[in-house]
Amino acid sequence: MIPAAPAPQHAPVPATPPTPRWQQLWRDAVRDPRELLAQLGLDAVAGGLGLSDDAAVQFPLRVPQGFIARMRHGDPHDPLLRQVLPLDAEMQPMPGFSLDAVGDGAAKAGHGVIRKYRGRALLIATGSCAIHCRYCFRRHFPYAEETAAAAGWRDAVDAIAADAGIDEVILSGGDPWSLATPKLAELTDALAQVPHLKRLRIHTRLPVVLPERVDEALLAWLSALPWPVTVVLHANHANEFDPAVDAALARLRGAGALLLNQAVLLRGVNDSVDALAALSERGHAAGVLPYYLHQLDRVQGSAHFEVPDDVALQLHRELAARLSGYLVPKLVREVAGDPGKRPLTYA
Ligand code: SF4
Repeated sequence: MIPAAPAPQHAPVPATPPTPRWQQLWRDAVRDPRELLAQLGLDAVAGGLGLSDDAAVQFPLRVPQGFIARMRHGDPHDPLLRQVLPLDAEMQPMPGFSLDAVGDGAAKAGHGVIRKYRGRALLIATGSCAIHCRYCFRRHFPYAEETAAAAGWRDAVDAIAADAGIDEVILSGGDPWSLATPKLAELTDALAQVPHLKRLRIHTRLPVVLPERVDEALLAWLSALPWPVTVVLHANHANEFDPAVDAALARLRGAGALLLNQAVLLRGVNDSVDALAALSERGHAAGVLPYYLHQLDRVQGSAHFEVPDDVALQLHRELAARLSGYLVPKLVREVAGDPGKRPLTYA
């Protein structure tokens, strides 16, 4: 009997890891304002929206499909649409509105590191976001030169390690969870070597605008971190929550994260007691406690969102009269040079 020829030996083909679904959804985000309006059944010209191509060039539109699905079809005043649509009003220079409204430049303490408040270091992890919010106080931030990831983590981690007075690191951006999970792990592995760190805080809008980001890899990374982790979300309106967001937030809580929300008080988005109460109640139903309600940071291009202080205080007073205390966020403003967020107080 003739022995069978041995099967040919092939060198193993290295497996290419599949692209996580959230990254595909990220790439599918809408970037053309007219496409966004068409999806919502709105006409850019006839609608009298004040759409601005110049504003879209200065700060491009970006919005994931899942967030568009939460906008009201045919409503040019939809509070989610208003947060992302580039408008003529952004291009009108306004006195008192600057490129760096919160003094980030003066507080730089290393490559991608900002020191403002005692005990805390804020790390500009990346300049990328899944959504571009028109009122963003970092819309003019020089991310190309100032992100810790772009420069390699070493500079930022060394700056944090060199200051034993820092016990909390805040991952910010941009949105830190726009980084791939292995890249996040590189950073936290390096930070884990810094003995004086006791807490990690993550400021992110991704679980709200692209809940698919909260995948198994992110949860495994989160669960393995050596510090208590607080995730400060950013939602401005109750309509930003849906079942997919609820499920993502439940997964984050299951991984041990404390969930807080910070919102910005925005004219035409949430400047009513009903809208603010609904935001607190909807967030709480999803396991998120309200933390801050920020007065707008006066960055160029955002003036049309501003709510006067007296109106903000009246809204806050009425909110406090309506809701349980733990559902009432602190009404604050960031003032460059202050040792913490400055509360707005009644006269
Ligand atoms: S997600 Fe945050 S950092 Fe990004 S554009 Fe919106 S407000 Fe700015």
